[in-house]
Amino acid sequence: MKGLIMDYPLTTTTILEYGNSVYHNKKIITYLPDGTREEYRFGDMYKRCKKLANALTKKLGINNGDMVGTFAWNHAPHVELYYGISGIGAICHPINIRLTSHQTEYIINNSEDRVIFVDATLVPLLEKIAPLLETVECYVLLNAPKDFKTSLLNTIHYEDLLADQNEDYEWPTLNENDACGMCYTSGTTGLPKGVLYSHRSTYLHASNIISPNAGNYSNLDTLLLIVPQFHVMAWGFPYLCLLSGSNMVLPSSNLQPEAIIKMLQEEKITKANGVPTIWLGVYHAMKENPPKEKLALQEYIVGGSALPKSLIEGFEKDFGIKGVQAWGMTETSPLGTVSRLQPMHANLSENEKLNIRAKQGTAFPGVEIRIMTDEGTLAPADGKTMGELQIKGAWVINSYFKTNNQENFTDDGWFKTGDVSTIDTDGYMEIKDRTKDLIKSGGEWISSVALESALMAHPKIREAAVIAIADEKWVEKPLASIVLVNTEDTISDEELIEFLSRDFVKYQIPKDYVYITEVPKTSVGKFDKKEIRRLFAEGKLM
Ligand code: ADP
Repeated sequence: MKGLIMDYPLTTTTILEYGNSVYHNKKIITYLPDGTREEYRFGDMYKRCKKLANALTKKLGINNGDMVGTFAWNHAPHVELYYGISGIGAICHPINIRLTSHQTEYIINNSEDRVIFVDATLVPLLEKIAPLLETVECYVLLNAPKDFKTSLLNTIHYEDLLADQNEDYEWPTLNENDACGMCYTSGTTGLPKGVLYSHRSTYLHASNIISPNAGNYSNLDTLLLIVPQFHVMAWGFPYLCLLSGSNMVLPSSNLQPEAIIKMLQEEKITKANGVPTIWLGVYHAMKENPPKEKLALQEYIVGGSALPKSLIEGFEKDFGIKGVQAWGMTETSPLGTVSRLQPMHANLSENEKLNIRAKQGTAFPGVEIRIMTDEGTLAPADGKTMGELQIKGAWVINSYFKTNNQENFTDDGWFKTGDVSTIDTDGYMEIKDRTKDLIKSGGEWISSVALESALMAHPKIREAAVIAIADEKWVEKPLASIVLVNTEDTISDEELIEFLSRDFVKYQIPKDYVYITEVPKTSVGKFDKKEIRRLFAEGKLM
């Protein structure tokens, strides 16, 4: 028997309408690349989204199902684009601004973007590849001075595009299963692959993150959106802020630790997101130059790569700020799990509590996770048996854009993440490694993530990235590349081996250490192990 409930499509337009009707006074604040601060309200944004919808349909001829690219930092107009583009039934495609020219060209041609909204400061990157872009008819310039010069053809300034448009626009009724946004994986394994989000998946993902068991966001919060809007739709934050009524602060290119600390202070940010490298930088900058007044920041949520236990501990002890670990992928919208303590953990020691918070956590309601062993059996939830993490749920991909390749999916409908993990009796998942980063030494698996996390707990170490290198006897062995907090410091190999022997058995401990000034990072700020392996292979890491 069918339930007798209305068919109410969960679309991004319903998010925008809700944000406008309940939270029209909430703020959206941008720090532009030149440091200028701009502020307006959700209600103002709502009107501009309608103007944008008129401009897209009437002036640019964009239709339902068309792909519209953005090539931009995090800022208010970029949030308008999220809502305006998907509101008319087109697909908002934020393009990663940090890829190679070849990858960018591939992504734009593959997605068939008809229009690209591009930040003035990023125009030179597109100018280089513009003649190769097959489907782009027009470029809309964001944050560009009036006399801005470019070799791009068919350009129009964003404000000119909106200027004569009407604030009235009736959103079309959309199917919640239609696409509203697209992001490409960052291409750590071959060419980037497109992931097409639906209105429904976006709505459900955003509304779940708000929950107190997850992000814990409400209308008391001011959120700093550090995760780029091109990185898995900024983890859904531009959507969830309108549902939770949280003020939004957008940093554009102001991503250096000092700039972030300034925004945290000036805007009294209560919660923020970001990859671990961002928070490592902020932590060390705050240690060197402690803020005079306690920050309003209560929590920062981290995903993308493992949040080291030492960073959770340091931030909390030194500044009373909590780190919350989450896990996800472009293919999972992104958030799939989050780690928070529960009342049953109240009597554990501080260290035991930290060990739980350093795990990647429990699945959100709406997604399910499991671990499959190499033998193809379901691993027991014992916190020990490792295998491939698989996931299914309401915001998990069922196919990549334009491919029928099913190699990433199981016959019974789960997505294969390529992460090697465990799940414990309480459902807390822990990432041991990505399949391709796991080290197999003398037939035994070694987790590079665990070694990195332990090394970064050493007071003299800022960053540590561990890769597998060839070994005659053991086939593979770990090599640790290390960045020191003070470049003048030294640490002996013996000291590090002794330090690691508290948590690791002998065969797991690296005997090879190299000291570098910075760990190479991917386009979204993760340790770039492919690059480290390349440097090592070319003898440039010694
Ligand atoms: P790409 O796959 O191109 O690097 P994603 O951002 O989609 O881009 O990366 C997803 C991967 O990031 C996951 O499969 C996992 O390996 C890693 N990851 C994400 N969050 C965490 C986390 N909290 N701890 C450890 N690894 C993580």
